[in-house]
Amino acid sequence: MENRQNNIVLTATDIHKKFGDQEVLKGINMVAHSHDVVSIIGSSGSGKSTFLRCLNLLETPDQGRLKIYDQEVVFNGQKSVQHSKQLIDIRKQVSMVFQSFNLWNHMSILDNVIIAPMKVLGISKKEAIDRAELYLNKVGIYHKRDAYPAMLSGGQQQRCAIARALAMEPQILLFDEPTSALDPELVGEVLKIIQLLAEEGRTMVLVTHEIAFAREISSQVMFIHQGLVEERGTSEQVFGNPQSARCQQFLHSVL
Ligand code: ADP
Ligand code: MG
Repeated sequence: MENRQNNIVLTATDIHKKFGDQEVLKGINMVAHSHDVVSIIGSSGSGKSTFLRCLNLLETPDQGRLKIYDQEVVFNGQKSVQHSKQLIDIRKQVSMVFQSFNLWNHMSILDNVIIAPMKVLGISKKEAIDRAELYLNKVGIYHKRDAYPAMLSGGQQQRCAIARALAMEPQILLFDEPTSALDPELVGEVLKIIQLLAEEGRTMVLVTHEIAFAREISSQVMFIHQGLVEERGTSEQVFGNPQSARCQQFLHSVL
């Protein structure tokens, strides 16, 4: 048995974020252990994407703490430069897959996957290509390596984005509604890859409206309402027997 206390990958403590006068995150806590799949659910506008973006510092929280293994960043309302090295260190550990793929359209599929490992991790082009081929193969689009994103289906583009995230060999993967931009017939091929990654034991945080899928793969579920965690627990607890009326209502509306 692994010791779960020693196995914490990511701790987010009391994360606050404002845009202008609007307080979008009002103090969110999350602990992800190694091999956890944490699903975040909630209505549109509740702060799910903002929270995820805070986890890899695409947004800087106004207040709170973020800890990846033993590396901690404390936020105190200042965008201090002292954070910039930490920012790069944290980005290396946390990779994100976006709803709209965010591939570079002027680059081939292979180049999309090799660029960050070369630029951010400083690995050689040859090593980056070896890595990229491994992960493109894993997501089933190795044969598209020389194509450009526009020549691929949405499902293939998202699988490329997953390969790109994997090529950073991060400690934790974030997915922000990875299938929401896809035609219904393409959703399955992307969920299959995410399921495979879960089975491999990768630590992941997933924002999704695919409730049946989340129910199956999550070790932990958070229901966010207006910038606060309104309900959390295991998949069985939150999906099977939700306590808060809002969570019940939300699940009724999406099922
Ligand atoms: P969700 O992902 O749950 O739909 P978001 O985190 O995207 O919610 O957004 C939460 C709220 O924050 C929304 O009201 C949204 O308009 C606002 N918001 C998100 N990003 C920004 C931004 N960069 N500037 C201003 N407001 C933002
Ligand atoms: Mg969102």
